[in-house]
Amino acid sequence: MSDIDTAADRLAAIEARIARAAELAGRQRGEIELIAISKTKSIDEIAPLVAAGQASFGENRVQEAEAKWPALLDRAPPPGSQGHEVKLHLVGRLQSNKAKEAVALFDSIHSVDRSSLVEALARAVDATGRRPDCFVQVNIGEEAQKGGCPIDDLTGLLSQARDAGLAVIGLMAVPPLAVEPAPYFALLAKLAKRHGLARLSMGMSADFETAIMVGATDIRVGTALFGTRR
Ligand SMILES: *Cc1c(COP(=O)(O)O)cnc(C)c1O
Repeated sequence: MSDIDTAADRLAAIEARIARAAELAGRQRGEIELIAISKTKSIDEIAPLVAAGQASFGENRVQEAEAKWPALLDRAPPPGSQGHEVKLHLVGRLQSNKAKEAVALFDSIHSVDRSSLVEALARAVDATGRRPDCFVQVNIGEEAQKGGCPIDDLTGLLSQARDAGLAVIGLMAVPPLAVEPAPYFALLAKLAKRHGLARLSMGMSADFETAIMVGATDIRVGTALFGTRR
């Protein structure tokens, strides 16, 4: 079996699981974006998934993405030729001093979580003329060591981001490990609804079906598509 078959097989298996979860939830498959999280994976590991038709990819570090994606985008089929164009998502913590590079490379940023970063991103949008979609990351389990804006600060951060001209489209969260994630997904959905945000970036390899049941629109799947990370 070639690498392309392997990538296509893995993608098809995840696609079938997404379709089934969407059906159980009474939702359309088209409401859910599958983001393939390719952090730590090499260009040679990622390219077969691009060739298999996967269009959205996520990375957690700006420098790693800058090292891999220009070459991968060169290889990606031209828009229209296979019906897809690659979109890049940043899902990891973003340092303010990398905001300009991030805005230049990524189509979506899922980790907007503090006031200083909103300011840096707004300056980067002005400087580059690019305006990526933004998700505000919420520290949904109120965990000391985790990224994300405290729930109590969400209203203020959202209005700051909107006033600064960022294209805020939704909320993102990573629930606490090793506990039932559904209540945290449900809380994120409630917060998004309260703030009039349509998109919910939640659900990873271990729990994306649960996330879909609770309304996820953007699921971030790494291990289940690429195998375990070294
Ligand atoms: C690594 C990562 C993922 C993917 O995790 P898997 O368990 O490998 O699917 C999703 N979201 C974020 C923020 C990540 O850092």
